[in-house]
Parts: sequence; structure tokens; C-alpha cells
Amino acid sequence: SEPRERAEDETELAVEGALRPASLAEFVGQTKVRGQLQLLLDAARIQQRPADHILLSGPPGLGKTTLAMIVAHESEKPLRLSSGPAIQHAGDLAALLSSLVPGEVLFIDEIHRMARSAEEMLYLAMEDFRIDIMVGKGAGATSIPLDLAPFTLVGATTRSGMLPNPLRDRFGFTAHLEYYEPAELEQVIARSAVMLGVALPPQSRAEIAGRSRGTPRIANRLLRRVRDYVVVHGDSSTAASIDDVSAALTLYDVDDLGLDRLDRAVLDALIRRFRGGPVGLNTLAVAVGEEADTIESVVEPYLVRIGFMGRTPRGRVATRDAYAHLGVSRHDGALS
Ligand code: ADP
Repeated sequence: SEPRERAEDETELAVEGALRPASLAEFVGQTKVRGQLQLLLDAARIQQRPADHILLSGPPGLGKTTLAMIVAHESEKPLRLSSGPAIQHAGDLAALLSSLVPGEVLFIDEIHRMARSAEEMLYLAMEDFRIDIMVGKGAGATSIPLDLAPFTLVGATTRSGMLPNPLRDRFGFTAHLEYYEPAELEQVIARSAVMLGVALPPQSRAEIAGRSRGTPRIANRLLRRVRDYVVVHGDSSTAASIDDVSAALTLYDVDDLGLDRLDRAVLDALIRRFRGGPVGLNTLAVAVGEEADTIESVVEPYLVRIGFMGRTPRGRVATRDAYAHLGVSRHDGALS
């Protein structure tokens, strides 16, 4: 199944594209990373060379693709989008690399899922802008060197721990994107509300921000559902009240902390089936019928961040706050 942070369909994808900031100045939050990227791009511009390769890690929806687009936009170069799962053979990568124009920005999403053979080709390409193409088999096999146009690779991963060191070492700049603060999400929402033509009083804006799991993509998606709700239930002149926000988000199973059905299913299994843990990741994943990778890269980081889940050497454990949120006492009875 698709990770739930992905846009649901083509229309949503188009809207998501329209809401993307086009410059570093418009990009909200991640102040440190923004400053670092700015320096990297400015230096490259002054020296008239492509910027160093950039590795962005962090949970889905925090702005990795957007930053790649901004890098291309600010260096006034074209952007090529690809992804690890699309590169299953060295040949796929050779075709991609040899077609780049000078200075082009190559974005590889989920770079940790690229084929091993392609990874090795990428090392040389990143370092020397050169690849070796193998022709023939057995004793007669030879490799033909091929020069590439200099390019900037922007790699994105939700699992930086899964990247082999030789690959990680070849990025000149590595940044980990953090979840956004509510005030930052409010800025994202305010900007998107203007673009979507939704009148959103400050309280409603804060309510959506508080339920967005620290994630701009989710903030924008919840805003669109609130917009839908007002379009159907309000008259066109009215603003989205806090009741409208609550009603819309309840309809979509987003609770007051922004946890959705999968978050709650994981907590529920951890607490009721495994008595608060510790339980292994794979066992937990099977219990909720979801891929371990999704649990680890999407669900857990936020539950850990809000202090609902702990990771111990023996497995995942639920915290006191998680019990309280589900309304379960530590001794297995419902809280009275
Ligand atoms: P990722 O590649 O990390 O999954 P994206 O770059 O696709 O995330 O971002 C998802 C959506 O969230 C985009 O539509 C973008 O408009 C919005 N977004 C992400 N980060 C920011 C930000 N810092 N400021 C404004 N909007 C953002």
C-alpha cells in the first residue's frame, strides 16, 4: 500500500505542486538547513560550478522534494526527478546520468532503495562525473569510460541509517529535516489558505497546525479537507470556524493530537495486545497489517517525538502518556 503521506490522487498531486514554495525565502522553517543551503548555492553561483551533492533525510512530507526543486530553481538549471525503486539496474542509472545537461539537478527520492550495482556506478559519477560502461561478458568483457556533464545530485531518504557509508560520504552536504513547530505550520497554512481562497481565522489556523503531525504536507491536506467542508456546509462568504475544522478533521479520523487511524492502531496494538511492550518492530507491523518500513519511517518517529513511544534494545514500549491518550489504565482496565 502507498504510504499515507503521499498525495491521494493526480488532482491532489497537482494542488500539492501549486502550493510548493519556489525559493528558499518562501520556504518556512528549517532555518539552519536553509542558511546552509543558501551558502552552498551562493558559493556555487560565484564560482560558476554546480553545487555540491546534497543529501536530505527525514520523514515524508517535510519538504525534501520541495528543497530539490528550489535548488534547481535558484541555480537556474533544469531538474530531473527519479527515485531509488525506479533504478533497478546499473543500466537505468547510466541512461539517466548520460542524458543530463551541464549543471542539471538530479533528484533521487528514496535513494536507499536503489540497486546495489547502480550504487557503485553512482560513486564514480558523483566524484569524477564519469562512469564505466561494461560491454561484453566473461574474458572478453571490457569497460568503456564515459564522461558526464557535471551535475548536482540531491538524494532524499526517510532512512539515512540504511545508506551505505561510501554513498553517504560522497555528499558534500547532509541535512536532517526536523518536524515543524506549530507556529511554522501556521505560516504554511496561512500561505496555502490564501492560495486556496479559504478564509481562515487565527484560531482555526492554530487548530489545523496542532493536528498536522509536525508535517507541512499533512497541514496542506487537512486544510483542503476543511476547505471542502466549508464549501459544502458554509455559505461562500463565511470563514472556516473552529467547529468547521473539528467537524472536518473528525470526519477524516484525525484526532485532537493529529494522530490518524494508523497511529492509533499501532498504539492500540502496543498497549492492548502486547501490554505496553517491549515488542519487536516486525511483530507490531504484522499486528496492524502494515509494512514494517512504513511503521518505522512514518509512524514511529512522530510517536517517539511526542513522547508516546520509546525504543529500547528489546523493542518498542508505550509510555504513560500513550496509555492516557487511549484511555487505558496501566493495569489493563479502562480508565474510570
Ligand atoms: P517530501 O519530499 O519530504 O516528502 P515535499 O517536498 O513533497 O516533502 O513536501 C510536501 C508538501 O509540503 C509540498 O506540497 C510543499 O508545498 C509543502 N511543504 C513542505 N515543506 C514546506 C515548507 N518548509 N514551507 C512550505 N511548504 C512546505
